[in-house]
Amino acid sequence: MEIRGSCLCGAVRFVIEGAPALMGRCHCTRCRKLGTSDIVFVTQAQFRLLSGAEEIETVVPVPPYTFARSFCGRCGTSLGEPLSSETSFPINAQCLDDDPGTRIGFEEFTAEAPAWATAPDTAPRFEGAPDLAQVLPD
Ligand SMILES: [Zn+2]
Ligand SMILES: [Zn+2]
Repeated sequence: MEIRGSCLCGAVRFVIEGAPALMGRCHCTRCRKLGTSDIVFVTQAQFRLLSGAEEIETVVPVPPYTFARSFCGRCGTSLGEPLSSETSFPINAQCLDDDPGTRIGFEEFTAEAPAWATAPDTAPRFEGAPDLAQVLPD
């Protein structure tokens, strides 16, 4: 099974061979601001960057954080660490174009999650975009 991934503008494209071993959600302020809260962990052996390496910019971590985070310099899409040399590294799950099969196995830094992070059960859900009149308070 090949899982495709890309940034919004399509400059950065990659494939993951087989299901990622793990998916997690990080609520730390850094991941939230970089837009990479949902990540899958992939191995070098299963990850292949197809295009866009020259477009990738990297944000260097500030302690205590250790993971670098990259984004497409053209469209700003947060990517995770596609240029990592580690055996296993995180990729932004929101960049995946196919269902990886893997589901969220843990959440971390929940103490840093804002009070609004989880939608209340009473919030209506729409399959597409609702009319503003349907969601604005009376
Ligand atoms: Zn892009
Ligand atoms: Zn984080």
